[in-house]
Amino acid sequence: MTRLLEVNNLRAGYGLFTVLRDMSFHVDEGEIVALVGSNGAGKTTCLRCIAGLIPSKSGTISFAGLPHPGARPHALVEAGLVSVPEGRQLFPSMTVEDTLLVGGATPRARDKRTESLKRVYSLFPKLMEREHQLCGTLSGGEQQMVAIGRGLMALPKLLVLDEPSLGLAPTIVKQLFQTIEQIRDHGVTVLLVEQNVRTVLRIADRAYVIENGGIELSGRAQDLASDQRVVDAYFGVGSKESI
Ligand code: ATP
Repeated sequence: MTRLLEVNNLRAGYGLFTVLRDMSFHVDEGEIVALVGSNGAGKTTCLRCIAGLIPSKSGTISFAGLPHPGARPHALVEAGLVSVPEGRQLFPSMTVEDTLLVGGATPRARDKRTESLKRVYSLFPKLMEREHQLCGTLSGGEQQMVAIGRGLMALPKLLVLDEPSLGLAPTIVKQLFQTIEQIRDHGVTVLLVEQNVRTVLRIADRAYVIENGGIELSGRAQDLASDQRVVDAYFGVGSKESI
């Protein structure tokens, strides 16, 4: 397997506040890799660093065999590392189609926009029905489809998803996770952060449990799903598992 993303001894945070202490993990081509962990563990901070939105304090990240360009999100998108942020970040008064086309406006993706749009609509047929609708009038699940579709329009090698199921009903979450598997089957590697631990471990190939800014546990998703420490922390009464 080809290594697509490699993170070694990463330290990062906000100003003097260090969140990620010594984080190392990797993602190979063709995988779905999940990062799970409790609130405030540092999952989003890790994704922000990988997406070039905040600088690292030390450690290394390499993507597709090349050193990470640092806090330069545009360079990362051009290299094929595309992030879908938590909360979707759509413009409510833009139509579905315009939003998708903006996602494909990067230099590498621009010439293939018509083809990419067809692919996104075949993955999310609901979005074709709603192509002229304003994003602000869509349901939460449809908005998440637009956010992922916009990411796919940039032709990612690695698609990074931050809590895609946040705020969605269980049936919608199920469909969304099936679509994430289809995206992987179409050749796009996926790294995602999720609160729905039980559900994400069903579709992920491997997972890392993050606590206090470091990796606490890692392994094949199906092994972690039966690991007593994961079961106690995430599947039990009072755990964050919602479906
Ligand atoms: P959650 O599931 O709640 O989103 P998380 O694992 O994604 O949790 P992070 O969002 O990475 O956690 O937050 C890790 C720590 O960094 C928390 O203590 C949080 O308060 C802090 N933090 C997050 N964003 C900022 C910011 N912009 N400025 C300062 N501190 C921040």
